[in-house]
Parts: sequence; C-alpha cells; structure tokens
Amino acid sequence: MYHINWYGMTGKTFSSLQFFLYHKPGIFSNEIKWTEHIYRYLPGMLQHFIHYFLHFIFPFFIAVGFYRKNRLVTYLVFLATMLVDADHLLAEPVYQACRCSIGFHPLHSYIACGIYALLLLIPQLRIVAIGLLLHMITDGIDCYMSSIYCK
Ligand SMILES: [Zn+2]
Repeated sequence: MYHINWYGMTGKTFSSLQFFLYHKPGIFSNEIKWTEHIYRYLPGMLQHFIHYFLHFIFPFFIAVGFYRKNRLVTYLVFLATMLVDADHLLAEPVYQACRCSIGFHPLHSYIACGIYALLLLIPQLRIVAIGLLLHMITDGIDCYMSSIYCK
C-alpha cells in the first residue's frame, strides 16, 4: 500500500514532482486507476506550477508593466533576488517538502521581511526590495497551500 497524501508524497524529503518522476506508481501499471492518480497528484503539481509561475513568470509581467524602459534589467534583478534561497543551504535537510520557509530560514525570517519592506524607501534599492517581497509573498502562498495539501 502507498501512503500518499494529497501532496503526493510518501516521505517528507521528496517533492511530488520527484516522487512522480522516480516512483511512478499507478499510471503505467494496474496498481491504481488513472483517475485516482490525477486525484492524488494534481494538487501537488498545481502547487508547484503556481509556485514557479509566481517565481519566474509573474515578475516578468511586473517588469514589463511597471518598468517598460528597463524591463529586461528589472526582470533580471527580480530573478537575482532568488539568491535569498541560498539560506536554505544552512538548513538540514537543505530541501524538505511541506516545510514553510517563511519564519524558518534566516533570510526568510519576519525580521528580514521587515528589512526588505524598509528597503522600499531607498529608491536605488526599490526594485531589489520589490523582488525580495514578491519572493516572500510567493513562498508565503506556498506555505498556505502546503497547510492544505501537506500533512
Ligand atoms: Zn524562498
């Protein structure tokens, strides 16, 4: 028997995508019906899709919509703010599905979020601040989705 929750995992160290790629129960065998397979994996896949959409695609529209002249540089700065995820390297394990990064990793702490908000006041750093805050909101939304699907 598989002990898979709605997020599509057996353990806490595999994401639903990794699990889908490496374990592949059901869909190519008769273990479970394909409808059941979709029912099990869709929420986790949807969560990943929303998360990476907000990390990579949504900032592009912000850059194009609000910084038309410097849209490429702005978008690259938004992408560069992803470097705050380097603080995950301090954690053990580095990646753990279902773990909420907000309030856990140092650069995702509430104090750090407050500092990012203050950076909005410095015009030269405003784009960096927006990128960092978008990142925190994205990770926060992921925490919310995990609170529903992850057990
Ligand atoms: Zn993050």
